Amino acid sequence: MQQYFEVIEKKDSEIGAYLTLTKKLALKQAELVDEKIAKGQAIGLLEGIPGAIKDMICVEGVRTTAGSKILDSYIAPFDATVIKKLKENGAVILGKANQDEFAMGSSTETSAYQLTRNPVDVSRVPGGSSGGSAAAVAADEAVWSLGTDTGGSIRQPASFCGVVGLKPTYGRVSRYGAIAMASSLDQIGPFAKTVEDVAIVLSAIAGQDLMDATSAKSSDKKFEDYLTGDIAGKVIGVPKEYVENLEGEILEIFEKSVEKFKSLGAKVESISLPNSQYALAVYYIIMTSEVSSNLAKFDGIKFGMRADDMLDSGVAENELPKNLLENYLDTRRIGLGDEVKRRIMLGTYALSAGYYDAYYLKAQKVRALIRKDFEQAYEKVDFVYCPTCPEVAFKFGEKTADPLKMYLSDIFTISVNLAGVPAISFPIGMVTKEGNPPAGGLPVGGQLIGKWFDEEGILNMAHTFEIN
Ligand code: GLN
Repeated sequence: MQQYFEVIEKKDSEIGAYLTLTKKLALKQAELVDEKIAKGQAIGLLEGIPGAIKDMICVEGVRTTAGSKILDSYIAPFDATVIKKLKENGAVILGKANQDEFAMGSSTETSAYQLTRNPVDVSRVPGGSSGGSAAAVAADEAVWSLGTDTGGSIRQPASFCGVVGLKPTYGRVSRYGAIAMASSLDQIGPFAKTVEDVAIVLSAIAGQDLMDATSAKSSDKKFEDYLTGDIAGKVIGVPKEYVENLEGEILEIFEKSVEKFKSLGAKVESISLPNSQYALAVYYIIMTSEVSSNLAKFDGIKFGMRADDMLDSGVAENELPKNLLENYLDTRRIGLGDEVKRRIMLGTYALSAGYYDAYYLKAQKVRALIRKDFEQAYEKVDFVYCPTCPEVAFKFGEKTADPLKMYLSDIFTISVNLAGVPAISFPIGMVTKEGNPPAGGLPVGGQLIGKWFDEEGILNMAHTFEIN
């Protein structure tokens, strides 16, 4: 633990992975493990192992901002279920990781606090929204971390930073105590440098929780026990719609990885997910609708900042709200960033009387078709495989002026959340960086998508790829 804090001390002023360090909590947790070791007691796989938690997830007594000014002063009064479970497993929490505000973004640039730099190339973004969690692991500022994934926020930053990230099946992991973005899509999942480490963290956090009505009954699996390294006869489907538009080195690296899976004994087939073309449009209606509803609770009354307390923050006395309504409006105007406001407005519009049927209801119907695409694919194949992203880590500011460009970064990850299936991103190669002579490379991630509740399947596939 102390060594990790030393690395953070050395590196994090440049990387910017952490928003808050939890040194006292970490020390307390580490001491408990030391005591057990001193008494000669057996310890578990995660005991004493230091990690980082996305600031979307509540840790008791610790500032939890969701990357937003509106929660600047919010101290979580309880542990999220995943935190409770990690503590029970003896894991050590080093701190809270930076993220896009309320998990809305693909570069961590919408954080109200700081930039996070990609440890592979600090002139580039780490991806997002769980950019701090991915960067912390990539920079060896944590062994593992937790992120949340609503449309790609674990897998895309894992891909950009060259680490492993897993979005579990919808319902596999309790979201109790994770600040909600879009409740029908959100899942919590782990990052680490190896597939095995990801499996170990998943084993600790998975399982049914009565505090999250959407969490599913599932047996307490030890996912690390399923990493056999044997994938002979497994059938992988490559969606033609996804690879059609790939080109250059990303396509080459992807094709090489397909050959590698074949050489390891897997069969590869071309499949079709015809409704994927609507995924981004459907996502930006369903997600924004749920965002507009979920974020209504941040009104200056129960959580975090409120405008009429802001005299000390430099707001002039005559600009303070004069009544309750002004207090709500000013709190949200000052406390929320542009991207969050954009989505609340889009979602409010999509849900409003007269537009509901045309937008929200229609999107729900197409969502059912996207799910059906996967059901049909899984009649023929065991896994779906594609690159995690059509691109590698981009430079700061490259996409901030054009939201649509930013949204397109998630084109391969979003259908997975709409269908609720599990998916893992793992490193499959590096593209050469432009420049003369080309300096180093940038990581490319492969995405394996599994059947509902087949985390062990995708983990074993990615693990077998990794060790060979
Ligand atoms: N980048 C996507 C978005 O901006 C996904 C975010 C997420 O998964 N939380 O909505």
